[in-house]
Amino acid sequence: MARPAYQRILLKLSGEALMGDGHYGVDRAVIERMAGEIKEVADAGVQVAVVIGGGNIFRGMAKAAEGMDRATADYMGMLATVMNALALQDAVESLGLASRVQSALHISQVAEPYIRRRAIRHLERGRLVIFGAGTGNPFFTTDTAASLRAMEINADVMLKGTKVDGVYTDDPVTNPQAMRYSSLTYTEVLEKNLKVMDATAITLCRDNQMPLIVFSINKPGALLRVVSGEDEGTLVKG
Ligand code: UDP
Repeated sequence: MARPAYQRILLKLSGEALMGDGHYGVDRAVIERMAGEIKEVADAGVQVAVVIGGGNIFRGMAKAAEGMDRATADYMGMLATVMNALALQDAVESLGLASRVQSALHISQVAEPYIRRRAIRHLERGRLVIFGAGTGNPFFTTDTAASLRAMEINADVMLKGTKVDGVYTDDPVTNPQAMRYSSLTYTEVLEKNLKVMDATAITLCRDNQMPLIVFSINKPGALLRVVSGEDEGTLVKG
């Protein structure tokens, strides 16, 4: 590959992306493919950090809607993200890519605590850093955690791997007329109420000039193309 367009990236993977065609949990073949794509990018010399979601296992809001205490449900959601982080670590390490899981909640037997400077050190040494437990606070999402970590580690760009290959004018699954935006501003995203990330995450990126690329994680090779600076997905910036 030509020289990568970015030196350090923060990749946000939703928990649902790990399910494949299933309805719950982690599909081994899917996570192995993602691990392979991440390794390709790391092998190209790009420093990679990942924030992983937990929606394939537990979503706080859904359980709160059923009557559970929201904060407790959110803590369970954060624990679900740690499970996904360990699954991804296992998959990348089986390919020979060194990695560390850092958790925003203390679970010292299975993950390092989140320490910003240590995370940066791991990245500089070529290790994949997987951030688990979101922000460590209930009432937030892993999209917000990803925006926050992207800023904290001084990532050049935040990449959001989703099921669709960018941001559309409408839901492309239900509306065949929907058009993909090649670029947008954060203010447009908020004004048009486009479903990119929650408003907290968007505002954080906007206020700190963190560019975001939304792309399809299901499209083989898309991650490498994004990192190479090719026209893939939708670019959102300030
Ligand atoms: N969560 C939280 N605080 C955070 C990040 C996540 O409370 O900073 C909880 C929340 O309950 C959420 C769950 O963890 O529903 C899983 O995260 P998310 O829904 O963002 O995962 P994704 O949709 O990316 O799979």
